[in-house]
Amino acid sequence: MPINVDTLKCTGCGLCELACSFRRDRVFTTMRSSIMLHLDDKRNYFGVMIKLPNDVLILARPEGLEIQRPTDRKDEEGAGAKPILLREPCDECGEEEPYCVRICPPMCLSKGE
Ligand code: SF4
Ligand code: SF4
Repeated sequence: MPINVDTLKCTGCGLCELACSFRRDRVFTTMRSSIMLHLDDKRNYFGVMIKLPNDVLILARPEGLEIQRPTDRKDEEGAGAKPILLREPCDECGEEEPYCVRICPPMCLSKGE
């Protein structure tokens, strides 16, 4: 797992998305990031998704972590979101300390093993 997520600490602030896009393209946008905020209609239900190589997704939601492969994909994105398949996969920020880990206010992200 490249990035670990302590799902119950996530506040849904979305800063990790902006940090990831800034590191990649030097712009702040939710459309270019490898980590995406996951929101549901349910009140206080949110988490993040991380795109890995080969279109594998880490879903980090209140109930815990799930690895989702392309073969069991359902539509997990909200309207207007850039399709997951068009985004770059997480490269763990190369040699740098992961931007998403550094910016997460409640420190729910950490570099994986
Ligand atoms: S580790 Fe880097 S590339 Fe991966 S989601 Fe975090 S900021 Fe994006
Ligand atoms: S920066 Fe941290 S608290 Fe904010 S949405 Fe991302 S994982 Fe959740």
